[in-house]
Amino acid sequence: MNKTILVLILCLVRVLVYAQSITVVTSFSVLGDIVKNIGGNKVTIVSIVGANQDAHNYELKPSDLNTIAKSKILFVNGLGLEAFGLDSIMKSYHGYKVVVTKGINPLLLQDNVNKIRVDPHVWSNPLNVANYYVPNILSALVAISPENKKYFTQNAQNYITELTQLNKWVVLQFKGINPRNLQAITTHDAFNYFALQYGVKFISAQGISTDSDASAKDISNLEKLIKSSNIKVVFLENMTNNQLIRQIAEDTKAKIGGELYSDALSLPNQPANTYINMIKYNVTTLCKAWKTH
Ligand SMILES: [Zn+2]
Repeated sequence: MNKTILVLILCLVRVLVYAQSITVVTSFSVLGDIVKNIGGNKVTIVSIVGANQDAHNYELKPSDLNTIAKSKILFVNGLGLEAFGLDSIMKSYHGYKVVVTKGINPLLLQDNVNKIRVDPHVWSNPLNVANYYVPNILSALVAISPENKKYFTQNAQNYITELTQLNKWVVLQFKGINPRNLQAITTHDAFNYFALQYGVKFISAQGISTDSDASAKDISNLEKLIKSSNIKVVFLENMTNNQLIRQIAEDTKAKIGGELYSDALSLPNQPANTYINMIKYNVTTLCKAWKTH
C-alpha cells in the first residue's frame, strides 16, 4: 500500500478513536489518574489543577472554563476541596456531575482558627479510593457509556485489587518501625484518613487547607509540641509553600525527612506520577525517615 495512504488511514483512525472517547474533566491530578484507571482508553481526561499544583489555592483560568464547558463528565472530590471556584461553576454545568466521595462519612477537624471543617483529603487512604471513588466513577462512566460497561467494570475490579494490595503493602512497611516513631509534622493537614487507617500521627503547621496562615502563637505551640512529644522529623509537601516547615525544623532541630505528595501528583518523570506510585513514594519516604532516627 502506498505509504501516504497508510499514514492518512492511521490519522483517520486516531481522529475517530479520539472522537469516540468520552471527554472527562477532573478537578485535580490525583482524581485524573484514578478515573484513567477505570476509563482506560475510552476516556480523554483533563485535570484542572495539574501536577505539583495546590488545589486549595488554584485560580481558574478562562481556558479551564472552556475545557469544562466542552466536557461530558465533571468529576470532583467534593467536601470543600474545590472551593477555588469550581464548586460554584458546577451549579451551571450541563454535563454529568459526579462527586466521587459520595457516601463517605467524612472526618471533621478543627482548623487553626477553631472552626470545624470537613476534611476533604479522603484519597489519602487507598481503601477509601477502592470503596467510594471507584464505585462512584464506575457508575458514572457506565451511565454515560453503557456499551462499555464490561470494560469499565473489569478495569474497576482490577484497580480495586491493586488498591487492596497497596493497603496490605503499606501495613507491612510500617510493621517494623517503633510505634513511638510513627509521628511527623507536615505543612498542611492532608493525611488524616491515612493516619487513621495506619495508626500513624501527623500534626500540621497550617491546618486543613493551605488557604490560611499559621499565627505566631500557632507556630510557637507547635514547636513546643514537637519538643514535648519528641517528634524528630518534619516533611515538606510537593504543592505547598514549605518556608514555614523549614523554619520549624530549624527552630526545633527536627530533621527534614523529605517531600511528601499530598494533593497533587508529580510530573510524569517524577516518582509520584500515579496515585499508587504517590502512596508508595510517601510510605517509602516516611519509613526511611522513621527508621533512621
Ligand atoms: Zn490539602
